[in-house]
Amino acid sequence: MRLGALETGGTKMVCAIGDEKGNVYEKVIFETKTPGETVPELIAFFKERKIDALGIGCFGPIDLDEESETYGYITSTPKPGWGNYNFLGAFKEALSCPVGFDTDVNASVLGEVTFGQAKGKKCVIYLTIGTGIGAGIYIEGKLLHGMLHPEAGHVLIQRRKEDTYKGKCPYHENCLEGLASGPALEERWGQKANLLHEKQEVWDLEAWYVAQALTGYVLTLSPDMIILGGGVMYQRQLFPMIRKYVTDILNGYVKTKELADMDNYIVPESLEGNQGILGCFELAKNSGNFFKDML
Ligand code: ADP
Ligand code: ZN
Repeated sequence: MRLGALETGGTKMVCAIGDEKGNVYEKVIFETKTPGETVPELIAFFKERKIDALGIGCFGPIDLDEESETYGYITSTPKPGWGNYNFLGAFKEALSCPVGFDTDVNASVLGEVTFGQAKGKKCVIYLTIGTGIGAGIYIEGKLLHGMLHPEAGHVLIQRRKEDTYKGKCPYHENCLEGLASGPALEERWGQKANLLHEKQEVWDLEAWYVAQALTGYVLTLSPDMIILGGGVMYQRQLFPMIRKYVTDILNGYVKTKELADMDNYIVPESLEGNQGILGCFELAKNSGNFFKDML
């Protein structure tokens, strides 16, 4: 089967062609401009390649309620031109094939569960820490949507007393995204995040903030694996620090074999940056009735 994948982002749109086995044949990047400029380019790309189905992993917030009149819309984003935009509709109308649609982070967790290290797990969280912070959640065979979709980057955390940085989130003074996203780091410390690599106090604070949120997810959702991705997590020294803080905060209260093996519990992505694209192939595959004979 020839499948299309589209992973949307505020700066770039990644388009790929591949198949249901997770092979990637072609990957092309388009700049994110306005919908009027960008969407026709994306549609032309997929039309030319004669795909059987398309999967879209989209930045949020988006409407995923199939009963809703605005299903498939990007809803309240500050990205100019993209608010209240019928993204899914544009592709459905232009392409004569089924289109699967979910959040970018749900696509990533689906990629890891289908093709990566999280195969066979019951509950998996994929948290991206980049320009924003967001989580995709796979739970007992399904991607979690609920009333909208998780917005786990905005959970409140406890601020360290000496941290006087005002925060980057316009909605919350003390949320994870506001205190620990890439832009928050850069504004607090006055330097590009990659240039702060040697500064121990930067990553200690970051790890403590991320660990607080992860502990909340551990206690609420009982995941059997947590995958951390996004630009900030290129700072690999964060992993052992985050694992230690999660262990400290839990303080022995939850005892499981997973938590006893932290190095395999809180982990980096396993698909060389292709987790989103591969998840989109799976969304594409699931959007049609291609495999109904096999069910
Ligand atoms: P996006 O969130 O736009 O999809 P990324 O996940 O790559 O993209 O996140 C970009 C952010 O990640 C940048 O704003 C920067 O703050 C941070 N970042 C990028 N590279 C690094 C790095 N090597 N070390 C630390 N932070 C980084
Ligand atoms: Zn917030």
